Amino acid sequence: MTDLQKEIQYIKGVGPVRAKLLGRLGIKTIEDLLYYTPFRYEDRGNIKPIGELIRHGADESYQTVQGKVMASGIVITPRQRKKIFEATIGDGSGYITAKWFNQPYLKDVLKKEKRVVVSGHVRRDPYSYGLYMDGPEFEIIDDEEGELIHTGRIVPIYHVTSGLTQKVMRNIIKGLLDLYPLPEILPQGLLDKYHLPGLHDAVNQIHFPPERSEMDLLNRGGTRSHKRLSFEEFLLLELGLAIKKSTVTQESGIAFKVDGPMIRRLHALLPFRLTSSQQRVIDEIMGDMAGLHPMNRLLQGDVGCGKTIVALTAILIAVENGYQAALMAPTEILAEQHYRNIQVYLDPLGVTSRILTSGITSRKREAILKDTAEGGVQVVIGTHALLEGGVVFKRLGLAVVDEQHKFGVLQRATLKRKGYNPDVLIMTATPIPRTLAMSVYGDLDLSVIDELPPGRIPVITKWLYGDRRKEAYSIMKEGLREGKQVYVVYPLVEESEKVDLKGATEMAERLQRAFPDNMVGLLHGRLNSVKKEEIMGRFKRNEIRILVSTTVVEVGVDVPNATVMIIEHAERFGLSQLHQLRGRVGRGGGKSYCLLLTNGKVTEEGRRRLSMMARTNNGFEIAEEDMAIRGPGEFFGTRQSGIPELRVANLLRDVKILEAARKEAFEIIAKDPALERPEHRLLRHAMEQKWRDKLELATVS
Ligand code: ADP
Ligand code: MG
Repeated sequence: MTDLQKEIQYIKGVGPVRAKLLGRLGIKTIEDLLYYTPFRYEDRGNIKPIGELIRHGADESYQTVQGKVMASGIVITPRQRKKIFEATIGDGSGYITAKWFNQPYLKDVLKKEKRVVVSGHVRRDPYSYGLYMDGPEFEIIDDEEGELIHTGRIVPIYHVTSGLTQKVMRNIIKGLLDLYPLPEILPQGLLDKYHLPGLHDAVNQIHFPPERSEMDLLNRGGTRSHKRLSFEEFLLLELGLAIKKSTVTQESGIAFKVDGPMIRRLHALLPFRLTSSQQRVIDEIMGDMAGLHPMNRLLQGDVGCGKTIVALTAILIAVENGYQAALMAPTEILAEQHYRNIQVYLDPLGVTSRILTSGITSRKREAILKDTAEGGVQVVIGTHALLEGGVVFKRLGLAVVDEQHKFGVLQRATLKRKGYNPDVLIMTATPIPRTLAMSVYGDLDLSVIDELPPGRIPVITKWLYGDRRKEAYSIMKEGLREGKQVYVVYPLVEESEKVDLKGATEMAERLQRAFPDNMVGLLHGRLNSVKKEEIMGRFKRNEIRILVSTTVVEVGVDVPNATVMIIEHAERFGLSQLHQLRGRVGRGGGKSYCLLLTNGKVTEEGRRRLSMMARTNNGFEIAEEDMAIRGPGEFFGTRQSGIPELRVANLLRDVKILEAARKEAFEIIAKDPALERPEHRLLRHAMEQKWRDKLELATVS
């Protein structure tokens, strides 16, 4: 059992050099290698008589033949003077020549009379008119009983790195499979229920599929063996999540009183009525907060759906119960804005709040830290600065994290640890595809706001290229004439930050000349926080009419009077990012525009993104598409997500399997919370292995 965790270096045929190469592929242990699945397969099982190939001609098709080496030797090409090893292979029906460049050692391998199977593309020599294959894969059949692994069958192809060949991979893996019988870890009941093969068979067949397997299914990763391994992987993942979740629900938290007068007073102060989604989510949060165990809830809602007021309600519940609350946002601008928006309500309710960012003076900071530690401040809003060691709360009862995807799991955990089992509410405007909600966020309770406040008109999105830029300016002019405001977003790509900054600056100057009656402002990441705040303030007050900005406006900025958003070099942005940006307009009820500008050629993938944007305003559809384009890893940075890496399973392909595994895992944990029953012993062991590196995370977050 533990043998599987043995380092790969000590396996026959590996050694330190190959171990290092394998390490580059993320393979460290025997288990890693056994679960290192081929990314595709080749069918070399259909052995053809050479005579048939001769009759049908050399069509460059990929073929496999079997025969005897009739003659072999090294020839030197007359012009380039390259050494080529050639072997003539005959099977009674005809002859074919196999050629290998620069592999003279083959003369000791493919000697006369050796029986071989070779696979390669069949070509015809223009001079001799004979058939040949260039550098075919081959395998010597020395003993009749032996199993072919490189040719004469369906053959696995692995992602390799330079220095490692397919043949070496196959040999090592084959050796391992023959040596290690894999003990079953899944309960028999589950195998039966889902018609899954046992572990040993599945692993064997993934690497060396049986004859007559369906090539298409194999190459899609859709065989029962693939399903079995994906199911196992998801089950172990979900067991970890289920345990994580049940641990939190067993911790004792703060049982807040949620029906105090302050919440009623807050809701009376609002200039609008809560949407029914907002009300429902507030009820869910109140249920959690009133409970004996800590809240661990993810609030998801498209940009502009009104998450802030929901967070504020939670904050006031904490405050009313004599606790402090923290709200963390990813940028200074966003923190500022939350601070200002929330203060409007906190002040009349007599609640004290402070903002803490890294941009403030140290004198101010000292005072805030002191007040926070002594409990004089009830609500602290800030950026990553909240996470620093010096920030100590007297009695933190609630931690809210806005735009969660900008933070890692560890940061979430750090904030949480500033209190004693405080309630945690995390919010995201990037819709989380269902598969991620079941995996990366699988230990959280999920609330969704699925409607926008009434009266919002969908943003009109256009992709304008080349000459159509003029259209953008006329829409902009029109908006300005109606007293509206405009965002012009400029991308900032790290490598060429200076160039882009110059671009944004010039753009601002150009616009100022073109619209002399409208004040143009420029906002970018290099400005200090005082300056940023000043510019945002002037934009909010409608003094600045056109705001040229690098992506600092990406998240959360709320200026309802801004109705036109122009995005320069839109092809450089990711889909979710574009959707976030678009969420800055369409907030006031008037007609709004999001204009995507591109110059020159746009890649295929870029087109896909831009036309998707023009086609729909639905954040979920966009998120799904974005995940499909970039892959789940990129999309949500699963590396820092705190869940184990997936080796076989695929979050896009295996949704159904994930659902089943999640259901089963949660049922298992409900019945056997610590996996103590004998039939779960191996399962627990495997789960612990999988979560090993993540266990600390698992317990803190
Ligand atoms: P987000 O979910 O993107 O954080 P905000 O909380 O910033 O959204 O809300 C966006 C805008 O909608 C704000 O101006 C807010 O005051 C307003 N808003 C929130 N809820 C409602 C509502 N129920 N009716 C009308 N306007 C609302
Ligand atoms: Mg927000």
